[in-house]
Amino acid sequence: MAVRKTKHEMPEQLPKERIKNFNEVPYGYDEKTAIDEAKRCLQCKNRPCVKGCPVEIDIPDFIKQVALGDFDKAVEILKTKTSLPAVCGRVCPYENQCEGECTLLKIGEPVAIGRLERFLADYERKKGVKTPKIKTSTGKKVSVIGAGPAGLTCAGDLAKMGHNVTVFEALHAPGGVLMYGIPEFRLPKEIVNAEVDYIKKLGVKINYDIVVGKTITVDDILKDYDAVFIGTGAGLPRWLKVPGENLDGVYSANEFLTRVNMMKAYRFPEYDTPVKIGDVVATFGAGNVAMDCARTALRLGAKKSYIIYRRSDKEMPARNEEIHHAKEEGVIFKLLTNPVKFIGDDTGLLKEVEVLKMELGEPDDSGRRRPIPIKGSNYKIRINTALVAIGQSPNPLIPTTVKGLKIGKWGNIETDEEGRTNIPNIFAGGDIATGAATVILAMGAGKRAARSIDTYLKKI
Ligand code: FAD
Repeated sequence: MAVRKTKHEMPEQLPKERIKNFNEVPYGYDEKTAIDEAKRCLQCKNRPCVKGCPVEIDIPDFIKQVALGDFDKAVEILKTKTSLPAVCGRVCPYENQCEGECTLLKIGEPVAIGRLERFLADYERKKGVKTPKIKTSTGKKVSVIGAGPAGLTCAGDLAKMGHNVTVFEALHAPGGVLMYGIPEFRLPKEIVNAEVDYIKKLGVKINYDIVVGKTITVDDILKDYDAVFIGTGAGLPRWLKVPGENLDGVYSANEFLTRVNMMKAYRFPEYDTPVKIGDVVATFGAGNVAMDCARTALRLGAKKSYIIYRRSDKEMPARNEEIHHAKEEGVIFKLLTNPVKFIGDDTGLLKEVEVLKMELGEPDDSGRRRPIPIKGSNYKIRINTALVAIGQSPNPLIPTTVKGLKIGKWGNIETDEEGRTNIPNIFAGGDIATGAATVILAMGAGKRAARSIDTYLKKI
């Protein structure tokens, strides 16, 4: 039988309805669609998709079980390599990873691996999540700093190995960016909480409201623990550095999304939270964070939501799916456009942004064509909220408070491939080591560091 060339469509909320709510946009596959999609898998002997997955999930094996309708077996296979399948099944850039390696790309679209992962995770959650067997206690104690995907993955894997793991988290909730950054309509908090509960069931303890480097130091922690994993992410916003950036109405993407997510503005009007939003919102940048800002602004009532980006559509770093969803929802893209200054009224409220048109020159260090200003092309756009989403850097708090820890030129903690720092009992991974990257890369780093920590603990 000939293989279907295209993926099964993902059913989702219609754009005109979804911009009025924060409910998740895609609904997910049903059982019949999942089985049918799984049957597209060619079960290649060389398993290219596995090589494309940073946490090495046995993709053809779980897909085979889905095709046979044995979802429990499929979940079991999936969960041997990932503790956060419902998260990854929603936000992973599969197109550049597992699906980007799929043999079916030679004739059409790849197998919808991400959608199948999400289907299985949702199936298991509805049924009741099973906890795997944990090895007898080794008596060794490990502290994990930061409850984002890197820290949670490292903690879960160490617990499965029988170590006693405690996480120290600065915020009052777990998940890192999954909770305070990515909006509810892409990743519901209920899903993150369910996956964190699974990690807790493995025996991991999480202590909240502890800012390591301020409340306690890594040295204090090491008096009670045999090793430390640092997974504190890259939460420090970058700014445009143009005049007027301190006007009332200009937010960093981080502040804006954290207010919406953690102070429950996404449940407006039930929560009357202080996120002031104007009728015309401009988001600067074109990555996933920018798309999240622009789409959130529409849901909070903005009449117009712009993406302003200095390069062209080819260079936009956001996932295609996010760009597609933003366009469907009416986000207006002003490409090859760069802000030069924000202009306020007499009371310091933002009222306009002056921008300059750009053209593309030769590729720069990033391999993307360099944007060059077109002289005299300045013009003004009326806006009353600006969201700056041009990237984040590692927070310097821990890197600068651990004596002797080797720090890279971007303020990142330097590690080898296996998450080892220059200090034998300190390990690190995720965005704090690589700079802002992706959930799955942070998870992969947490996994490799857990293996290194285990090896280290066996030696001491
Ligand atoms: P984080 O998720 O940042 O977690 C770090 C944790 O450490 C946080 O909980 C923080 O509170 C805590 N912490 C920090 N400092 C301290 C301290 N001193 N003491 C104690 N705790 C501390 N990636 C994708 O793959 N797909 C996407 O669609 C996607 N969308 C994104 C959207 C947004 C808005 C953002 C901001 C990022 C997005 N990313 C996406 C990137 C991805 O979320 C990150 O790469 C990933 O979360 C990094 O994981 P991490 O564990 O290293 O850090």
